[in-house]
Amino acid sequence: MKDGKIVIDSHSHIGIDMIHGETDVNEYIIFADNQGIDYSFLMPVPAPVINSKRVLYWNYSNEFCYRSDFANLQQNGFYSPYEVANDYYDKKIKELNTKRISFVPLIHPKLDDYNSLMRLYEKYNPTALKIHGVSAGAGPNDVNIGIIKFLRENNIPLILHTDFDNNLENGSGVSTTRRINSPKDWASFIIENNLKAILNHGARLDLETFALVNGSNNLTVAIGPEVLMMTEPSRLMIEPSLLKQHGYLGVIKKYLDIDKIIFDIDYNWNTLSLENRTLDYDSLNRVTQIFNENEAKQVFSSNLVNFFNLKELSHNFGETKGISVNNKGVEER
Ligand SMILES: [Zn+2]
Repeated sequence: MKDGKIVIDSHSHIGIDMIHGETDVNEYIIFADNQGIDYSFLMPVPAPVINSKRVLYWNYSNEFCYRSDFANLQQNGFYSPYEVANDYYDKKIKELNTKRISFVPLIHPKLDDYNSLMRLYEKYNPTALKIHGVSAGAGPNDVNIGIIKFLRENNIPLILHTDFDNNLENGSGVSTTRRINSPKDWASFIIENNLKAILNHGARLDLETFALVNGSNNLTVAIGPEVLMMTEPSRLMIEPSLLKQHGYLGVIKKYLDIDKIIFDIDYNWNTLSLENRTLDYDSLNRVTQIFNENEAKQVFSSNLVNFFNLKELSHNFGETKGISVNNKGVEER
């Protein structure tokens, strides 16, 4: 709780990432307890590796040579490039035996399909699914038609990484992959296909996307991790003068309807910079500084409860007393 308000973190990560290192679930819980976070949606890191098995797929890049050996995995009975990671981290969360975490499986826009999602649905009964197009090397134009069908039939929202890159040097792979994951293209994709999604990373502060979101019942925007994103202005789409005038959260408050704004931490990308990995402990405070009492309540929880239709979960929020972590591991208090 923050000043008497329930706080839901709609997007944080656990696992070992090929590029960014390890994000530990027990450390996340310590962080969440410290911050007063009542409920969390945890998903695998963007490029998960398990026992150094390469489970990601990179398509647009020539710079990186870790193309997936997914064909080999398929021959061995795997049905999705992220199956190993999803199983592993779902199990880790179940071992915690807590009601305060919901696992969000990571899916691949191209390589997952209707059948793989059905299997995943039966296993995890997820509230939402995550697509990280930059790590997957794919964007909205690449989404498998079977995935669209599955999401529509089961009314499951997506949590979408959005990106942008001003420094397009000779079509460099990572810049291209960031640009094909633009917030506006993802928003249009969701609207055209009548799906539902949270656009992460403040939809890169793109005002055209904000207009699409304000006009659609099927889209919302998550705000984190604002400190890290402010260190990379070339990946934001807002006029620098507007950003300077209003600040990151100020732009969101001014241009986005209040019922569209969703709180997330993006643990552990919630750092002072990519080099200085000191965690940012102020994101909840900034919300209560910028938004008034009622608005903060919406941002922290009720917008997401409505968007995800979480009514059946909300009885867990009030009684969440946290999990204590000691050197023996994690146990319910
Ligand atoms: Zn993410």
